[in-house]
Amino acid sequence: MVKFEVDGVMVEITSGDPEIKLQKDLSALVSFNCPCGAKVKIDKDKLRSPTSMFAIPLSVGFEDVKKAVEYAKKWNQFPTGLSEFFRHQRTYLNIAGAADSYGVDINCYCGNCNREFNLPARFTNPVERKPTPNFVEAWQLFDHTSELSKVALTRVSVRYGFKTWKELAAHIDSLVEDKAKVDKLLTSLKKTVSQAQITSASGKDFVRALDTSLNEIAEDYAKETTRELDAILSDVREASFIRLESETKETYLPSAASEGNWKTPTG
Ligand SMILES: [Zn+2]
Repeated sequence: MVKFEVDGVMVEITSGDPEIKLQKDLSALVSFNCPCGAKVKIDKDKLRSPTSMFAIPLSVGFEDVKKAVEYAKKWNQFPTGLSEFFRHQRTYLNIAGAADSYGVDINCYCGNCNREFNLPARFTNPVERKPTPNFVEAWQLFDHTSELSKVALTRVSVRYGFKTWKELAAHIDSLVEDKAKVDKLLTSLKKTVSQAQITSASGKDFVRALDTSLNEIAEDYAKETTRELDAILSDVREASFIRLESETKETYLPSAASEGNWKTPTG
């Protein structure tokens, strides 16, 4: 097996035949000696179009993995703002036509004796993507005071009965902080319960029931808080996708916008 990198894509080519010894080649990518003695070369074009020219459809595996590599690199460059992150996520994650791994058979011929070879190859994306933060993690990780985030929070605040984006942000902060405080409280309560010197059977039953109740109450609270946070933050995410007026101006009428007489495009 030979392993090498082409345009950021990891390529592994194997030979099923012990007689066929693949090696890296200076003028191509890989070469091997045909049983007739001639040298057979596999070049970059062969990776892009590994099946014979008459096969339909031609494989697009290499380009698909290359696309995944490029988008994974872009994904890893997180922006600082919260709304900017939501837009980033929409642009660079789950890209249509991109594949992290793709297996093909590279079909080639010896130019001397016309023998045919089919060499199994695998293309993989070696770029590891940063894990996707959930809503609460995103709230803690990114700056919600960026211009775009303030606009998104403002759009959502009315829906939840708040006057300003700041009030909504404070509400989200309190939900996130309370969740952590409740976790801490639960840990300490459970410690107290487990440390109680209870010896009688009925006493032990009580401790068991208390422990179960604590878990249930805590679970309900966590579920409820998470549901509320996810609802608000998913609305914030949706609001982040709406174009700002300045973006609309730039897209539709850049010259008119700069002159300050921008009008809503019609038709
Ligand atoms: Zn040959």
